Amino acid sequence: MSKVALVTGGTRGIGEAVCVALKDAGYIVVANYGGNDEAAKAFTERTAIPAFKFDVSDFNKTKSAIDQITEDFGPVEVLVNNAGITRDGTMHRMSFEQWDAVIQTNLASCFNTCRAVIDTMRANQFGRIVNIGSVNGQAGQYGQVNYAAAKSGIHGFTKALALEGAGKGITVNAIAPGYVDTDMVRAVPEEVLKKIIATIPVGRLGKPEDIARSVLFLVGDEAGFITGSTLSINGGQHMY
Ligand code: NDP
Repeated sequence: MSKVALVTGGTRGIGEAVCVALKDAGYIVVANYGGNDEAAKAFTERTAIPAFKFDVSDFNKTKSAIDQITEDFGPVEVLVNNAGITRDGTMHRMSFEQWDAVIQTNLASCFNTCRAVIDTMRANQFGRIVNIGSVNGQAGQYGQVNYAAAKSGIHGFTKALALEGAGKGITVNAIAPGYVDTDMVRAVPEEVLKKIIATIPVGRLGKPEDIARSVLFLVGDEAGFITGSTLSINGGQHMY
C-alpha cells in the first residue's frame, strides 16, 4: 500500500522537487506551505499534489493540520522537514525578530511536526524522517548567526531523535545541502553569488533534484539501517 509523505515547504524549490520525486515513486504526497497562495496553486496545478497552508513555526496549528492530513489521507509515515527561511544580517544589526523568525521556522518547526507524527510512527513501528539542514549549519556563514544556529540545531535534533526511534523502526536523517538554485539563493546579490559559485569545486549550484533523489533514497523501506546520519550534498564545497 502507498505510504503517505508530508513535505513541509513543499510548494517551491527543493520541496517541490522532493514532492515530485516521492509522487513519481508511488507515495501519496501532501505538501505544506506558509503563505504564498499563488505559488501553492501553481504547484498543485503542475503536480496534482495537494498543498496545505499552515505555519510550521506554530505548534498548535501544525498539530491541527497534521491531524486533518491524517484524517484525509492516513497516517504520515514519511516526514520531510524542509520549510525554511533566511533573515540575514550581521549580529550587531540583527533584530530579535530576525533571530526568532529563523529559529522558530527552521528549527522549532522540526519539533512541531515530529511531535505531531511520532506517537503514530511508534505505534506502527515504522517511520522515515528527513530534516533539511544546510552547509551553513555545518560551516557557519557570515551574516547568518540565526540560520547557522537553527540548521546546526537540526543536525543535533536528528541524532537525538534517531536514537529514540531506532528501536521502533523509525529512522531520522538529515541532508545538508550546499547552494541550490532556488528562490532562496536567487535572492542573494549576483556578485556575492558569483563568489560563492567560485568556491564550489563542481563549478555550479546544486539543482533541487540533486537533493530530492537523496531524500528518496533515505526514506525507502530498504534504508532502515541508515539513521542519525547527515548527507552533505554541496558539490564538494565543504567536506568533513
Ligand atoms: P524556498 O524559499 O524556495 O521555499 C521555501 C518553502 O518553505 C516554501 O514552500 C515556503 O512556503 C515554505 N515555508 C517558509 N516558511 C514557512 C512556514 N513558516 N510554514 C510553512 N512553510 C513555510 O526554499 P529552498 O527550496 O531554497 O529551501 C528549502 C530548504 O532547504 C530550507 O530549509 C532551506 O533552508 C534549505 N536549504 C536551502 C539551500 C539553498 O541553497 N536553496 C541550501 C541549504 C539548505 P511559501 O511559498 O508559502 O513561502
